This record gives sequence, structure tokens and C-alpha cells, in this order.
Amino acid sequence: MSIPTINAEGLNKSFGHRQVLNDISFRVATGEMVALIGPSGSGKSTLLRHLVGLTCGNRTQGGRVSLMGREVQASGRLRRAARIERCRTGYIFQQFNLVGRLSVLTNVLVGQLGSMSRLRALCGRFTDQERQRARACLARVGLEELIDQRANTLSGGQMQRVAIARVLMQDAELILADEPIASLDPRSAREVMEILSRIHAEDGRTVVVTLHQVDIARRYCHRAVALKDGRLYFDGPINELTDERLQALYENADLDEL
Ligand code: ADP
Ligand code: MG
Repeated sequence: MSIPTINAEGLNKSFGHRQVLNDISFRVATGEMVALIGPSGSGKSTLLRHLVGLTCGNRTQGGRVSLMGREVQASGRLRRAARIERCRTGYIFQQFNLVGRLSVLTNVLVGQLGSMSRLRALCGRFTDQERQRARACLARVGLEELIDQRANTLSGGQMQRVAIARVLMQDAELILADEPIASLDPRSAREVMEILSRIHAEDGRTVVVTLHQVDIARRYCHRAVALKDGRLYFDGPINELTDERLQALYENADLDEL
């Protein structure tokens, strides 16, 4: 069997006395597109952040995470290698996390490996080859016309497409997207999902995307991982998520609203 892109075993996470993740284990194979769902506060964002070691105090909380076959929370000599694995993981946020005063093109250029390139971004020094590649990434998300515009003049949907181009520039094998469409109007949301889906299908990238609309998850993802109160509630083909299960997951919320 090939090495899974994500292998999480027995993850636990507490904030103070509150246990937010409780013994979570799951694997994601290379090339999957998985929806991470569950009610607000169920631990989805914490889980995504925990995977890349963005939550504090990881090593004392128990559990192991490997990304692309390498343990992320490794120490000592392995730490550098682990950091590189994290660089091969692209993160997309609900609030885009662009640098507003920089141009669209520069925002994409800083998506490259390592802090040196970030330093160069501040000095505005990039090679022609890098600029060309960044343009190509922007063309893939349909924004080649806007490369010189400041990021803070874009619409939400356009900003999210820049964030996706940045992940493409980073050449990330694994894309973790935390509520990427939650702040967008329906049309922009659909565009962003189409782009993620295309990257997944054409480039074979592995994508884990947090969504609160179950119908969108059904349209774009074959598999769902669902959390409820910090525990794994469901992990399987999304078409096995029956209305009954969904009702129990969302505690009888109106299913038409999901
Ligand atoms: P979701 O993304 O599913 O809405 P989160 O992962 O954001 O859920 O949050 C899960 C729980 O952890 C919530 O009860 C939230 O209040 C709590 N939580 C998240 N981050 C922190 C933090 N930095 N400090 C304390 N509690 C937190
Ligand atoms: Mg969240």
C-alpha cells in the first residue's frame, strides 16, 4: 500500500480543561478530495491547524501526525525535514490572509518555499522565471488580468483565487482549506470550489476542505470526515451520509439550511 498523504493517529487537543479533539484517527490517501464537516465548534479548524502543527503545545497533547510519510511533530535532526513537509502543505483560510498592500503578483510570489523568498518579496526581487510561473498560476485561477492590482482592492472571490494561486506557486502536494467559501456569495463560492476541484483532478493534489454546506460537499467530494463535539462521528463515502445521520450530526437542524 502506498504511503497516505495524511496519517493522523490518536490526536488529542485541549484548551485549558476543555478537550476539543478527542482521539481522532484518520488517513487520507494521495489524490483524495475530502470534505471535513460538522457543526460549528466541533473542532474542524483546530484539527486542520493541528495537522500542520499550528496549534501550540502539540507535542504534549498526544497523538501523531505524518504528512507525506514524515512525522510532522518530529524533534531534533528530523525537525528541519518536518518543516519542509509543512512547506509542501498549502493552507487556505476563510479570510484569505493576503498582504493587502502588495500586488496580486507579489502575493503569489511569496507562496514559494522558505523564508528567503519572503525576504526577497519585501525587497521586490524575483527572477523572470519566478514571475512567469506566478503569472501562470494566476492564469489558472482566471486572474491574469489583475496581476498588478493591490490585493486589498479585490472582491472576496478574487482574493480567495489569489490564495489558491499562491498555493499553486508553492507547489503544495496537500491543500488544507478551512471554510474557503464561507465568506463568499454563492457564485464566487462555486467558482472557488470548481477551481479547487480542477486542481485536484488535473494535478492530482490531495485536498481536505472544511465546509458547512453539505450539498456542496456532496457535489465536490467523494468522502466525508465528520466531527461532532471533537470526536470522529463519521468517516466514509459521502453518499453514505444519510439524512438520518446528518440530522443526528447537526442535532435536528433544518437539513435544507445545510
Ligand atoms: P469549528 O472549526 O468546527 O467551528 P474550532 O476548531 O474552531 O471549531 O473550535 C472547536 C472548539 O475549540 C470551540 O469550542 C472553540 O471555542 C475552541 N477553541 C478553538 N480555538 C481556541 C483557542 N485558541 N483557545 C480556546 N478555545 C479554542
Ligand atoms: Mg472553523
